[in-house]
Amino acid sequence: MPAFDFDLFVIGGGSGGVRAARVAAGHGAKVAIAEEYRFGGTCVIRGCIPKKLLVYASRFRDDFDDAKGFGWTMPDPSFNWRQLIAAKDQEIARLEGLYRGNLEVKGVKTIASRAALEGPETIRLGDGTRLRARNILIATGGAPRTDDGIEGIAHAITSNEVFHLTEQPKRIVIAGGGYIAVEFASIFAGLGTETTLIYRGEKILRGFDDDLRDDLMQALEQRGIRLIMADRIAGIEDMAPGRKVKLASGRALEADQVMLAIGRAPNTSGLGLDAAGVETGPRGAIKVDEFSRTNVTGIFAVGDVTDRVNLTPVAIREGHAFAESVFGGKPVRVDHVLIPSAVFTTPEIGTVGLPEHTARSTHGAIDIYKTRFRPMKNVLAGRPERTLMKLVVDAATARVLGCHVLGPDAAEIVQMAAIAMRMGATKSDFDATMALHPSAAEELVTLRDKWVG
Ligand code: FAD
Repeated sequence: MPAFDFDLFVIGGGSGGVRAARVAAGHGAKVAIAEEYRFGGTCVIRGCIPKKLLVYASRFRDDFDDAKGFGWTMPDPSFNWRQLIAAKDQEIARLEGLYRGNLEVKGVKTIASRAALEGPETIRLGDGTRLRARNILIATGGAPRTDDGIEGIAHAITSNEVFHLTEQPKRIVIAGGGYIAVEFASIFAGLGTETTLIYRGEKILRGFDDDLRDDLMQALEQRGIRLIMADRIAGIEDMAPGRKVKLASGRALEADQVMLAIGRAPNTSGLGLDAAGVETGPRGAIKVDEFSRTNVTGIFAVGDVTDRVNLTPVAIREGHAFAESVFGGKPVRVDHVLIPSAVFTTPEIGTVGLPEHTARSTHGAIDIYKTRFRPMKNVLAGRPERTLMKLVVDAATARVLGCHVLGPDAAEIVQMAAIAMRMGATKSDFDATMALHPSAAEELVTLRDKWVG
């Protein structure tokens, strides 16, 4: 039996895989990482980072409008999609280079190829090369789902293609109610595209606090996004150059682009999991324990491919914990509670902990504190939009169970609230904290009256 080529072979050069490879190499392991597309993975190449750049671009319209209320006059601004995409591509290429460079500096062998398992210790590369590794980490992430039974689905794009459109669509129809769908609806509307969002449920953002869902829907509609709920796309016809979209209800719409953001599925097909005997669960996700171990000794999985909490910081933490546990001699579990998250619509959402409906079923008696107010800047700007801040508190212990914000800088505010909540902060801790004035966040420490619904 030949010796092992590597102590660790990582399949997938995204958030989780890159972190694991670097930490393992730092502990002296001989590591290789294979990436079939571009190093950096979904987050860097076609997820969080390019999306946030587009979000920034989409918000300048508000800045230009609001500036008038503060005494500024300016010529009518115009927007150039190609220029934005070129600038975004340049930045993504820079980040990709950094990711690859950081791996190489640590002595990790980077391999630009698809990789699959051939057995519990054997990997096969795209060119047929076989390698043996003592440990294998699967960090292949997820991919957009396109299996919705839509006729003419080939005429739709997903979040993979949206970052590379050569023209800004004048009209777009987006299907989905999750954070990716609503974020792109907000981006396109902000950039001046006539935007329609179609979702099969009654309300967007299933699982989020209902006040956030209701207020965001109202804000998006006020910003001119057409929301069609309780309906779905049944078929898409190519009208060259546009698309005709047929809805299940019988309605028809016309658009230049149709984007599907109807969910993501773990990237496990064709990965050779059967050959290695690795068990999968619902939707093809790799089953792992709290140390990211699969049922096969020496094979691990982290990130979206395990379908635990599909966010970049979680994949990074899981990759780090795996490498510390296996190569650092220090078993580390990842704590998946109180993970803050954001929805980068305009206005944006920041949220951590339990939504009201969940807290009611898990904790029984709860108190709600909430406020809706017009942020100071909006008054001179002449913008009616309101901010929502809400705390969900355990009535028995006064512990803050949930913190939900909709409004400017919500993500920044909630990241900080998450620290206090992890430390077990109670409502009285929030109350005892001196307000920082004038700010929006001070409302979270000056909420005195219980909400009587
Ligand atoms: P990935 O980053 O997906 O990396 C997996 C890599 O494996 C990919 O590069 C892929 O090409 C490669 N690969 C797959 N199969 C193979 C194979 N057989 N051989 C070799 N290589 C392979 N998360 C946030 O926290 N905040 C956000 O704002 C946010 N926004 C997002 C916006 C969009 C549009 C999308 C799609 C995702 C967003 N996410 C966000 C989610 C985030 O991108 C993922 O949770 C994160 O990238 C998961 O990391 P990962 O390491 O598990 O997988």
